[in-house]
Amino acid sequence: MTVLSNDQNKEYDSFSLIVKVRVIVPMLTHDSQNAHSEFDYLSDSSSKIQIGNIVKVSLANKITWGVVYGFKHETNIAHTKLKSIISISSVPPIKSFNLKFLERVSQYTMAPFGQVLRAMLCIQSAFKDDKSINYFSLSSSNKFETDKLSKSRKEIINWFQNNPIGTANAIIAETGVSKSTVNAMVKCGQLAKNLFSSIQNEDVQSKLLSLKKAMQSAKKLNLSSMQAEAALGINQQSDKFSVVLLDGVTGSGKTEVYFELVKKKILLGKQCLILLPEIALTSGWVNRFNKWFGFEPYIWHSGIKASKKKLIWRDVNAGFPGVVVGARSALFLPFANLGAIIIDEEHDTGYKQEEQFIYHARDMAILRAKYSQCPIVLATATPSLESWINKISGRYHHIKLTNRYGDATMPAIETINLIKYKPPSGKWISAPLISAIKNRLVSKHQVLLYLNRRGYAPLAICSDCGVKQSCQQCDSLLVTHKIKNQLRCHQCGVSRPFKNACQSCGQVETLQLIGPGVERLAEEVYSLFPGARVTILSSDILNNPIQIAKTIQSIEAGEVDIIIGTQMVAKGHHFPKLTCVAVIDGDLGLSGGDLRAGERTFQMLSQVAGRSGREKQAGSVYIQTAEPEHPAIVALKSRQRDEYLRLELEMRLTANMPPYRRLAAIIYTSLNEVALAAYVKKLIVFKPQFEEVDIYGPAPAPIYQIKKRYRMRFLINAPKSVNVQKIIRDWNASIRVPHNIKRQIDIDPYNFM
Ligand SMILES: [Zn+2]
Ligand SMILES: [Zn+2]
Repeated sequence: MTVLSNDQNKEYDSFSLIVKVRVIVPMLTHDSQNAHSEFDYLSDSSSKIQIGNIVKVSLANKITWGVVYGFKHETNIAHTKLKSIISISSVPPIKSFNLKFLERVSQYTMAPFGQVLRAMLCIQSAFKDDKSINYFSLSSSNKFETDKLSKSRKEIINWFQNNPIGTANAIIAETGVSKSTVNAMVKCGQLAKNLFSSIQNEDVQSKLLSLKKAMQSAKKLNLSSMQAEAALGINQQSDKFSVVLLDGVTGSGKTEVYFELVKKKILLGKQCLILLPEIALTSGWVNRFNKWFGFEPYIWHSGIKASKKKLIWRDVNAGFPGVVVGARSALFLPFANLGAIIIDEEHDTGYKQEEQFIYHARDMAILRAKYSQCPIVLATATPSLESWINKISGRYHHIKLTNRYGDATMPAIETINLIKYKPPSGKWISAPLISAIKNRLVSKHQVLLYLNRRGYAPLAICSDCGVKQSCQQCDSLLVTHKIKNQLRCHQCGVSRPFKNACQSCGQVETLQLIGPGVERLAEEVYSLFPGARVTILSSDILNNPIQIAKTIQSIEAGEVDIIIGTQMVAKGHHFPKLTCVAVIDGDLGLSGGDLRAGERTFQMLSQVAGRSGREKQAGSVYIQTAEPEHPAIVALKSRQRDEYLRLELEMRLTANMPPYRRLAAIIYTSLNEVALAAYVKKLIVFKPQFEEVDIYGPAPAPIYQIKKRYRMRFLINAPKSVNVQKIIRDWNASIRVPHNIKRQIDIDPYNFM
């Protein structure tokens, strides 16, 4: 591996130098000759070049981007065959600690370096040299008299109070003035025009000043004494790398506690990264942020426009102070000046990225904090076992919030035994729950019914031939969605119109819909509580951020009586009028049988329960279950979280499972079933043998076929001290992966399907 030299600041006269460039093109496999995607180029002798510079190059006759990784005087390739670098981007070079972080991620996840690098160089328009883009700032002469200015000029000057620099497009979009006003102001010297590459330290300083000003003018909100103490505890760890587990019951105000750390870092001119599990859903969170800080964070997720992302990318790479709040992909932004990372709801399995390259954002964020030498806070009410074991060993600092904020108390939790109080066939709400809901509706409170099943019914079966309607390209049953009138595969997303005709025998009107989804539950609610205002929170029904924000607002405003929701409702929402939460099927999820089924159910139910009674009115929680004696349910009811974690850990230890050991899954997929079987058979011959390392498989994956591809799996279980990546690399180096087979490596898998 190339070791980066520390002389990043040195500029080289590039004449006669050969430049090592790593490109954003992932080389197919890790065992190939060039796993780092590194190639040699000549540099145009007229330009200065340094490590970390982003460059445009040609590779196999295609234009692509890469990062300068080093220099050398000799190469095996004839100089006449070497290609020249096409151009050097004028954005500041990527910092060497960021490149080291990417190397470590590639090493750990076994994703090709080029693929990990592409996650950082994700917005190519950000480093394309568009000289046409000018940045404007208030001219330093500042000679104009404000009261003599036109309304639109005043508008622009006000805009600059919070934005030290901006493109014409940003100014126009946010103030509504015309381009000609901007141009006129440049002409008479009120605005200065700069090229992006000329961003100077003064710009950074003036951005910092504007953030400080905003924070001063923000409304002062008081921390409780418990919050203040917790914030102090975090701040004591905050000037170096450290991991803090911020462990607070739902509604205790963890957010404001970590806001204190963020505030401190911003005042020092630093950047902060806050990861949220479902950023698109959290308009309430962003409002809280704005209130506290007086300025807006940069919001980063897949729904943000590319033009906006480009500006964020540039600011982050240039080292401007500010806060990025985002989904897991924000972790790979090129922060030049990172001061703190926060992982909100650290236990959330949404942090595991399952597409493209597979990584766990929480775990990679801890690496990132290490390379940036900054603190990282893991906030949660239900710590993951991975974090809990580190707390026990003393590797993580543990800071606790034991009470809810203000006058709020923890809700009372009751179980309803579904065997004793069985609802009638085709219904899902038991008699005791019906009367509890009625009581709440009478006193004008809100009720939340939680059922983690999208659509109308999870199963459609033909009463004539008995065939379960299933996906044509996956081993997966089709879910009926009545609102959209579709049968849909939740595995691959494919859907077909619901025609009530059997896919197998063709008979019409024979499909029986079995089991509940949120839409069907809504039907039952309408008939039981006529007149109640009902809304469904599910990703199928609400699928754009504006729609979601509107619905959340109407709930907050008390315009809804009964909320029916999937796991989408469990995350972070604060509904002041909500005092009754009911879990329709507490056993869903416990039956899954995967490693984390119990842990996940406990976390999910704790989160849902935590939505109840977050303000003055005390809340109640009802869990309908056929297994009221299940350890997860008993622990939840009696608030014995730590005891539950202890039991789970004990079970994992006995079973030789994470977090005591490390798992790694290797999944081979192919459209050609025969070729796949033959290949995995060959792999068995070379199966490595080490003491204490168990390799299971090959076995068909539990969902054997997805999107027409057949899937075979090996599972490795090894002590944590073993370099499992090396075992996999050596093993795979023994036989090439044929071109019609794809390999996917999942270190620390969460999904066993
Ligand atoms: Zn049929
Ligand atoms: Zn499918």
